[in-house]
Amino acid sequence: MALRPITGTTRILGVIGNPIGHSLSPVMHNAALAALGVDAVYIAFPVGVAALEAALAGFWATGISGFNVTIPHKQAVMPLLSQITPVAQAVGAVNTVWRTDQGWAGTNTDVAGFLAPLLACDRSWAGTRAVVLGQGGAARAVVAGCVQLGCSTIEVVGRRPEALTAFAASWQASPLQPPLSVYPWPSLAERLPGADLLINTTPIGMQPHPEATPLTPGLMALLPAGAIAYDLIYTPRPTRFLSLAAERQLTTFDGLEMLVQQGAAALEIWLQTPAPSDIMRQALQQHLD
Ligand code: NAP
Repeated sequence: MALRPITGTTRILGVIGNPIGHSLSPVMHNAALAALGVDAVYIAFPVGVAALEAALAGFWATGISGFNVTIPHKQAVMPLLSQITPVAQAVGAVNTVWRTDQGWAGTNTDVAGFLAPLLACDRSWAGTRAVVLGQGGAARAVVAGCVQLGCSTIEVVGRRPEALTAFAASWQASPLQPPLSVYPWPSLAERLPGADLLINTTPIGMQPHPEATPLTPGLMALLPAGAIAYDLIYTPRPTRFLSLAAERQLTTFDGLEMLVQQGAAALEIWLQTPAPSDIMRQALQQHLD
C-alpha cells in the first residue's frame, strides 16, 4: 500500500481502548481510506478508564472526526455522548462515535456486522432458535441481532449463574424485548438438539489456545443437520469449534466477516460513502496470514 502524505487537512479517525496495540482496525480502515483516496488517517489511541472523559474532550477540541470504541469503554462512553441511536441503546453499548453540531453521537455497528453473513444466507429466520454461548459484551450485540433476524427463541448459556441472571434482567426494560432464556453451562447438551443457530461469543479457542473448544465432538454431534455454527473469534481461522462443525457438514461462519462489516458500517457513517469491504477483508486476511 502506497503511503499517502499527511497534510494540514488530513482528517483523523481512530479507535480508543485499553489495551489497543493488538487492534486490527487500523489495518482495515487505513486500507479502505487508501483505496477510496480519502485524505484521512485511522489511529489506535490507548485510553485508560480514568482518561476516557479527558480523551473525548481532547478529541472534540482537536477536531477528530470520529472514532471506534472498544474494551473497556463501550458502556462507559455512553453518558459522554449527546445522541445515541436506538440500536446502541437497545444493546447497551456504543462502538462507533461521530461528530455532530450538538456533540458526539454514538451507535453500535457490531449488530450489523454480526448479521451480515447471516442475512446473505438464502433462508428464512422467522421462528428459528438461536443458542448463544457466553453472556459478555459481544453476546449483547448477538442477542440484538437475533431479534432483528426474527429468531423466536434465544437461549443464552453461560458458566456463572449470577452473570446469567444479570444478563437476562438487563433486557427487561429494553424496547427489543428479546425472547430470551438463560441456562447454566452443564445444561448445554439439552439446548443443542433444537438449535438452528449456535453462536460462540466466548473466547474459548482463541489464540493462544487454538486447541480449546466450547463444544466437544460429542456435543457437536447433538446439533441438527441444518444448523449453522458461528464463532465470533477471528484468529485462528478456523477455530476448533468451527472445524468440528465443518466435519459435521454444518454451515460455518467465523468472526472475520463480522469484524469487516462492523468496520464498513462505521466508515460509512464517518465518510458518508460506501465502504470498500472487499479491500478491508483482504487487508485483514493478509495481515493475519
Ligand atoms: P467479554 O465481554 O469478556 O465476554 C466473554 C464471555 O465469555 C463472558 O460471558 C465469559 O463468561 C465467557 N467465557 C469466557 N471464558 C469462558 C469459559 N471458559 N467457559 C464459559 N464461558 C466463558 O468479551 P467479548 O467482548 O464479549 O468478546 C468475546 C469474544 O468475541 C472474543 O473472542 C472476541 O474476540 C470476540 N469478538 C469478536 C468480534 C468480531 O467482530 N468478530 C466482536 C466482538 C467480540 P464469564 O463472565 O463467566 O467470564
